[in-house]
Amino acid sequence: MIHPSTELRFIGTDVGFGVFATAEIPPGTLVWVLDPFDRVFEPEEVDALPLPLRAVVERGSFLDPSGRRIFCWDHGRQVNHSCDPNCLELGVSFEIAARTIRIGEELTCDYGSIGVLLPFECRCGVPQCRGWVEDAAAAGDDPQEPTLSELWALADAVSQPLLPFAAPDPQGAERLADLQRRRRNRRRRERRRERHTFERRGAPVEPVSRRRRSPVDILPASADPSAPPSAGVAP
Ligand SMILES: [Zn+2]
Repeated sequence: MIHPSTELRFIGTDVGFGVFATAEIPPGTLVWVLDPFDRVFEPEEVDALPLPLRAVVERGSFLDPSGRRIFCWDHGRQVNHSCDPNCLELGVSFEIAARTIRIGEELTCDYGSIGVLLPFECRCGVPQCRGWVEDAAAAGDDPQEPTLSELWALADAVSQPLLPFAAPDPQGAERLADLQRRRRNRRRRERRRERHTFERRGAPVEPVSRRRRSPVDILPASADPSAPPSAGVAP
């Protein structure tokens, strides 16, 4: 499932469609998670498909390390490649925002890191363009590794709207449990800090309805016993 603050836009006849942010997405945000609707095909299942369906799967899916094809059910499958991507792959179950993605900016990932069946010539247009994209594992490098742990460290501090929908693979499940634990701990720490600040400022005044009502609360203002007796009132 792709982040809810995204939409599909037509870019042009050469590129086709792309996925664009409709709100600012901070670094550390999960921008895509594997969810129960995403279809995971074993290689032999893809081979057995009728040709037109097979073409759809091959065009719209990515490869995991064991050769399975992950076919996203929503516009997550339309994320384009960039040699300077703003989304990084975190295992096969998650993609994470690598930097602040501004409103109107296109979400991109590095196809080399998500499994490329056939190398292709790249014309993504960024200054760092490698010119040729092939499977990073096959090429023997992992250009994402230095920054992934830093991004993962940010993940518990930002809003994660995709978290309830994640249905990761076993390796991703550990990562998900780690994130959920860190977010619970962070909420506890924040609540403790709020309570501490609150106590230092002094206890709040409880509303009258929650206090034990004193006779002064019950008496009407005109019958305030501390008020001086009005003239002309019989004792
Ligand atoms: Zn490129």
